[in-house]
Amino acid sequence: MDATMENKMGLPPPYEPTAPSPAPPPSYFGDNPPPPAGLAVPAVPPRTTVITTPAAPAAPAGRPIKLGPGPTGASCPTCHKSIVTRVDFVPNTRTHIVSAALCVLAGCCCGCFVPYCMRSCKSANHYCPACKAFIGTYQHS
Ligand SMILES: [Zn+2]
Repeated sequence: MDATMENKMGLPPPYEPTAPSPAPPPSYFGDNPPPPAGLAVPAVPPRTTVITTPAAPAAPAGRPIKLGPGPTGASCPTCHKSIVTRVDFVPNTRTHIVSAALCVLAGCCCGCFVPYCMRSCKSANHYCPACKAFIGTYQHS
């Protein structure tokens, strides 16, 4: 009893100045610590890039060449030479139709060959005499 009293009266209990508040435990972020503020990835700046496509369309593949029923002077799109086309007349669908019509009208096939002999009933295929390139077809309208 006395010891207790003496302790209270004389010797103050040892008082350890403790920190105002215990330091918080180190934050634990597991495997994904937050990036330092300085290294924070900035938001992607808005891009004002305007993709300008050439207004002018691509050059036409080939200027349509006016072809006639016969050899026609033209510029070869393949060898770019100024040539006179070589013409091959080939029967086309109309040739067969005319032939069939003649066959029906005549009642025989006597005239069936006529359309195949008529240039006007055939397509005129134009070829370049220099490079043999196919240039175009002319069809009677
Ligand atoms: Zn040519």
